[in-house]
Amino acid sequence: MPAYRAPLRDMHFVFDEVLDAYATLQTLPSQREFGNDLGGAILEEAAKLAENVLAPLNASGDQQGCQYDPQTKAVKVPDGFRSAYQQFAQGGWTALACEPEFGGQGLPHVLNMMVEEMVCSANLSLGMYPGLTHGAINALTAHGTRAQQEQYLPKLISGEWTGTMCLTEPQCGTDLGLIRTRALPNADGSYAISGTKIWITGGEHDLADNILHLVLAKLPDAPNSVKGISLFLVPKFLACGTRNGAFCGGLEHKMGIKGSATCVMNFEGAQGWLIGEPNKGMSCMFTMMNSARLMVGMQGLGIAENAYQISLGFARERLQGRALSGPKMADKPADSIMVHPDVRRNLLRQKVMIEGCRALAYFTGLQMDVAHQHQDPEVRERADDLLQLLTPVVKSFLTDEGFNCANDGLQVLGGSGYTQDWGIEQLVRDSRITRIYEGTNGIQALDLVGRKLGLGGGRAVRSYFALIEGWLQAHPHAPHGTALAQAFKQLQQATLWIVTQGMQDPEQAGAAATPYLRLFALVSLAWFWARMAAVAQQQLAAGSSETAFYSAKVKSADFYMSRVLTESSGLLAEVTAGKASLMAFSDEEFAA
Ligand SMILES: Cc1cc2nc3c(=O)[nH]c(=O)nc-3n(C[C@H](O)[C@H](O)[C@H](O)COP(=O)(O)OP(=O)(O)OC[C@H]3O[C@@H](n4cnc5c(N)ncnc54)[C@H](O)[C@@H]3O)c2cc1C
Repeated sequence: MPAYRAPLRDMHFVFDEVLDAYATLQTLPSQREFGNDLGGAILEEAAKLAENVLAPLNASGDQQGCQYDPQTKAVKVPDGFRSAYQQFAQGGWTALACEPEFGGQGLPHVLNMMVEEMVCSANLSLGMYPGLTHGAINALTAHGTRAQQEQYLPKLISGEWTGTMCLTEPQCGTDLGLIRTRALPNADGSYAISGTKIWITGGEHDLADNILHLVLAKLPDAPNSVKGISLFLVPKFLACGTRNGAFCGGLEHKMGIKGSATCVMNFEGAQGWLIGEPNKGMSCMFTMMNSARLMVGMQGLGIAENAYQISLGFARERLQGRALSGPKMADKPADSIMVHPDVRRNLLRQKVMIEGCRALAYFTGLQMDVAHQHQDPEVRERADDLLQLLTPVVKSFLTDEGFNCANDGLQVLGGSGYTQDWGIEQLVRDSRITRIYEGTNGIQALDLVGRKLGLGGGRAVRSYFALIEGWLQAHPHAPHGTALAQAFKQLQQATLWIVTQGMQDPEQAGAAATPYLRLFALVSLAWFWARMAAVAQQQLAAGSSETAFYSAKVKSADFYMSRVLTESSGLLAEVTAGKASLMAFSDEEFAA
């Protein structure tokens, strides 16, 4: 199996050359000094950690999984994870984009996303523990009291403690209004939390000294809906050192990410403290979920990159059959499978999806930094609009394509892919969950059509479309401009259809949501491919010595426009077909 190598060259291409990200970041007060010397050094160190510390534990972590001891209710993570996690925390990787006031390094969020991509390529299961902690840090930073922040943030940011998100219960996943976990007020202002949560990532483990659970629960007089949910902070160990009543009741047996402890958590009158206002838990949780959704998108991208590297390595070595145009390796018993058009199609689909998704993700991550820190409120608002609009697209499309790339990659390996020897079947299994948690991809599509298209009365989508239009106008002779312009027109037609039909009948919007999100993503990638090809052409024209790198970009854009973006016509047809053929079925007819 080829060892994972972080795609630093491509990361720099997108970040430095296409997005000119350093220039944007240097407009922010706290990032004035952040240049490519520092950014490049951090990425190189992260690459070493991913390649040398995290990746070697990926297969063994999958084979060994986590162990639960019913006597002590303790969970043991796979061998090597604890030491690797400690290196991760001690290296300051948990603190990268956190507030300096509480021990963070205050570096850009987009840089953290780039690191996350490498971590998830190398070892998704291990990356889940600090990943969930990051969500808890965000929620406390945004909604905790000063005292809560001072008490908990330094330990979470340093990685000495980890965090969880406890939402799901046996009877409720997507519909959190059905939560049954209760919070009864104690005399001292704290609460007694009781209930059962399931599928809690990192609910129990032996990586860190303490675990801070963020738990959704209902107060006694709360409305019986999502408007009656509050958010509580429930530490495994209380400040006095006493063990709190939050225990792991068992581990889930699951398809993938076996090194990540997915726990049943029983809260038995556990002492907890309210975060934010009573009954406003959902909006606090959304703070956590929005950045978590982008991070899950990076999980998809990370897995896709690793799958591509494995399948490309295999295809180069595997000799089978002869090229249709005549032998290419006449001295060998057969040609490498790289000569076969269908194998090339599989590899190139992965390559263009990965590199296009990388550009979309970093562009979106950059908006997060601008939205948080720019001094001009109008610039902040515009960036926040883009961030909100693109978050469900990044979560959903990158995880769909993460799984598709792993699956296509496995196909390149044939039977070898189905065995455990090459590690790609693990990537197929590991990537599947990313389309489900943090809100299923179906729910992301509903978020895009139901909430984000209407954001600011359509301001967010108008501002995004204006960027694409502006680019097309500024590059009237761009070779990929025509294909982009055609698909962009289809996206505009689909948007208009949803806005008009969905206003009258929400089921129409619901029926169109998933194909619409895919169309939106494909056109976004077309925009980035057109931009990447334009930059590459400039470099080639200027006589760059990296000929293969830049010519591959131009050819990748050709491939994307002529063989991937063509899906847009079918998606527009599916969007505008409306709900009729979906909703016409009766229950009996489904089973007929
Ligand atoms: C490995 C793993 C780790 C997890 N980690 C955590 C964690 O750390 N914390 C946590 O709280 N949870 C966690 N979860 C739970 C996860 O977030 C949920 O599985 C997810 O939110 C979906 O909920 P559900 O599985 O109950 O599906 P359901 O809500 O039952 O949905 C089933 C299907 O119906 C669709 N659907 C449901 N409602 C609607 C609707 N209104 N409109 C359209 N379609 C709809 C969904 O898209 C889905 O396809 C984890 C799950 C797994 C498997």
